[in-house]
Amino acid sequence: PNMAQLTALLSVSDKTGIVEFAQSLHGHGIKLLSTGGTAKLLAQAGLPVTEVSEITGFPEMLDGRVKTLHPRVHGGLLARRDVPEHMAALAEHGINTIDLLIINLYPFAQATAKADCTLEDAIENIDIGGPAMLRAAAKNWQDVGVVIDPTDYPQVLAELTASNGTSLTRATKFMLAKKVFSHTAAYDGMISNYLTSLEAGSEDKTADVPVREEYPSVFNLQLHKVQGMRYGENPHQSAAFYKEAKVAEGLLAGWNQIQGKELSFNNIADADAAWECVKAFDVPACVIVKHANPCGVAIGANLLEAYEKALKTDPTSAFGGIIAFNRPLDVEVVEKINANKHFVEVAIAPAITPAARAAYASKVNVRLLEVPISATSNPLDMKRVGGGMLLQSADNVDIVGDIKVVTKLAPTEQQLQDLLFAWKVGRFVKSNAIVFCKDGMTFGVGAGQMSRLDSARIASIKAKAAGLSLEGTAVASDAFFPFRDGLDVVVDAGATCVIHPGGSMRDQEVIDAANERGIAMVFTGTRHFRH
Ligand code: 5GP
Repeated sequence: PNMAQLTALLSVSDKTGIVEFAQSLHGHGIKLLSTGGTAKLLAQAGLPVTEVSEITGFPEMLDGRVKTLHPRVHGGLLARRDVPEHMAALAEHGINTIDLLIINLYPFAQATAKADCTLEDAIENIDIGGPAMLRAAAKNWQDVGVVIDPTDYPQVLAELTASNGTSLTRATKFMLAKKVFSHTAAYDGMISNYLTSLEAGSEDKTADVPVREEYPSVFNLQLHKVQGMRYGENPHQSAAFYKEAKVAEGLLAGWNQIQGKELSFNNIADADAAWECVKAFDVPACVIVKHANPCGVAIGANLLEAYEKALKTDPTSAFGGIIAFNRPLDVEVVEKINANKHFVEVAIAPAITPAARAAYASKVNVRLLEVPISATSNPLDMKRVGGGMLLQSADNVDIVGDIKVVTKLAPTEQQLQDLLFAWKVGRFVKSNAIVFCKDGMTFGVGAGQMSRLDSARIASIKAKAAGLSLEGTAVASDAFFPFRDGLDVVVDAGATCVIHPGGSMRDQEVIDAANERGIAMVFTGTRHFRH
């Protein structure tokens, strides 16, 4: 064989795309080594493949627990090609180098995510030889290209094509090695989390007793540092941004920054709040966020209309805010923003048209982000507490079940639309949340107060300050009114219909008050605290 001929070892549990990849490797004159199941598949596809058991002289044994744990494999992976003693040792023992390693591990995450997974199933899904080979190859990254992620197949093939099947670039090999150690760390973390989550005593339950971690998906969180920051929420705090290895489409971290300075800690947090809120609407919508709370939300026939309405709610707070749109941002809207001298820290949209970009180009301080849009939200919500972490499924439902009219007066069709709009916005406002709305726009937002009464007062004060009349508005409250006083405040301000979860001991007092004041009220049965 040609001196430069490389050897690749392929050993994969998830065999998607492996035959095509191996065919390309073979096409580049690369020798193929493989473990039982993978080798069988490659041989069936007509590829010349050597089984690892042939080179080790040992059969795969113990139900596959021992396949590749052998000096002929690990010597071939770990020998430094630039150290003569290493190469001499290989020659002395008749060991050949392995230059490419293509692996994916036993599917521990998938196995343990199943409701009926037993401890025994989980244990059998712990890969032993795979991580050993991955770590060996990644440690010797200068000499071995190690591929853990099938999305890297095209880049690896492109470099092999460019080098006539002889090498990968140093940068690629280093990138691949980094991925390996992230992957093996996450894999072992997953096993450790799974086992420590088992209750005392359940470790000796027999195979027919299912054991299951409640939040398996948190173990799959593979985070990579993408950016250190000059500071955190405040200048004396240090900070960094970490991103998941695979960001689901529709989530903020999938952003593509078109222009502007690097995003700050507060920019990212507020951008997420704005983006999650604007995604909740099916029709063209605009959300302006300040300090994690929406200070203007509106829908319209188009983004221009939505923007102009959203800005009206609270133009003072909107200055220096974060603005998000759920449709491609066009030049008319940017021109309007500029004409208003409305400075925004960040603007986010699923797409930003070339003309809109050009219109923003001179505003160098505005960070423009494109984020692919979808209804997806993070499934899990986390909150750090002293010495621990709270996990919960995210609050990404609008209303669970049916809404119920509880007053003599039922809302009109128009009022119902206003109520549902207000309710949708209320989910994205910090508790206690009171939101006045009409005609697809927020009129007053009361956020983050310790008393619902104060949130109601603040919402109406802000509306008046913005020159808006609350006459005939719809009000949403994120949780029930504990007494009639909060209701009286919003009705005094001009509201004619109210939506809230209900469920208070004093519901009847509040319903009686609504009837007395002649307004319509509906209960959702769903509460949306947000802290
Ligand atoms: P195959 O389907 O080719 O028989 O097996 C592929 C899987 O075996 C891969 O997921 C690989 O990580 C794993 N594997 C390779 N060598 C060993 C070993 O020595 N012990 C164990 N437990 N797994 C191995």
